[in-house]
Amino acid sequence: LDRELIDCRACPRLVEWREHVAVTKRAAFADETYWGRPVPGFGPADARLVIVGLAPAAHGANRTGRMFTGDRSGDVLYQALYDVGLASQPTASHVGDGLELYGTRITSPVHCAPPANKPTPAERDTCGGWLADELDLLAPTMRAIVVLGGFGWQALLPILARAGWQVPRPRPVFGHAAHVELAGPAPLHLVGCYHVSQQNTFTGRLTPEMLRGVLEQAKTLAGL
Ligand code: SF4
Repeated sequence: LDRELIDCRACPRLVEWREHVAVTKRAAFADETYWGRPVPGFGPADARLVIVGLAPAAHGANRTGRMFTGDRSGDVLYQALYDVGLASQPTASHVGDGLELYGTRITSPVHCAPPANKPTPAERDTCGGWLADELDLLAPTMRAIVVLGGFGWQALLPILARAGWQVPRPRPVFGHAAHVELAGPAPLHLVGCYHVSQQNTFTGRLTPEMLRGVLEQAKTLAGL
């Protein structure tokens, strides 16, 4: 699936943006070759815990080619994953830096960097097919999902419903530490978490303690 994903060009606006960013670059990375393609999920294919974000950052994952790698959001996330024993090291700088995730896979509902970090509903729905296929492959082992932010929460619930999980109506509302257990192909715990964006972490809306708390809870729920 990852090999097929990286050739996807289904969203013209996002293809143009990801490639434009890869050519124009940020001055600090002028000497680097940007990835500039869809960013696949990162972590083992038999993960018990899945983390769903939003979309690659223009100069983070769109540059390095790995989820949450090479930007401040990733710094916060990987430090927390390391702190709770789900990552082999607290930092993520580039593919080949030695980072491993334990029983955990990180993915997103949109796999290409969007302008202003804002995919359109149509782009979310188009890319949702990839997320649905990925979750289908993970279903035999997946027992918990941490959703970073309301965008991922909204994208995920219909996909899970179509895949056979019993999503209540009205749909559960996103919130930090919101927890829902879904019956379906296998019991599945959803846990909400504020996104690790700088907007949240710099303002203290999401603190390292809050993030660690959600990850610890999800780790336990996933049986890790
Ligand atoms: Fe393809 Fe998803 Fe990228 Fe759209 S966002 S081009 S569906 S990989």
